[in-house]
Amino acid sequence: MSTERIGVYPGTFDPLTNGHMDIILRAARIVDKLVIGVARNIGKGPLFTTEERVEMVRQEIDAADREVGARVDVRPFDNLLMHFAMSVNASVIIRGLRAVSDFEYEFQMAGMNGRLNPNIETVFLMATDRYQFIASRFVKEIGMLGGEVSHFVSPRVAARLQERFAKKA
Ligand code: ADP
Repeated sequence: MSTERIGVYPGTFDPLTNGHMDIILRAARIVDKLVIGVARNIGKGPLFTTEERVEMVRQEIDAADREVGARVDVRPFDNLLMHFAMSVNASVIIRGLRAVSDFEYEFQMAGMNGRLNPNIETVFLMATDRYQFIASRFVKEIGMLGGEVSHFVSPRVAARLQERFAKKA
């Protein structure tokens, strides 16, 4: 059996924000290998396709830290999170926690996932204060209305948003 500690950080990442990146870089310090699971999440009607979101996450990690990038895998998934975590031999699921509003949903999800497989622990990383208020949903709203998103996402993600909304206009 491998002694390598593998973590899964699942999300929709529509689009990847500075808050997500902060969690990724911090999570990479507590596991040997990090698998970022990009949820297809058709129900949420994502702005970017799964392939675009996977590509965005990959690009940002490689641009932020190549050494960390070598230990991070970015993969799409559309099955049950617990099954995805088991398929990559993960022992931890990482989630970011912002305000109180995240708590109830995350608490329920962690509880139910714990029932599905008690050997995989959910670990929460508290959002860093300056990223506390960043949410993909608001970034999209601001972008759609022509506002400045550069405080919340990388320049590359900002350019993609601009391009997407220019097409829609
Ligand atoms: P989901 O659809 O699973 O909520 P998201 O992409 O919105 O996917 O978020 C993925 C994870 O990242 C969640 O655990 C969420 O709480 C966390 N997260 C989102 N934004 C931030 C942020 N600004 N700081 C810390 N964690 C965050």
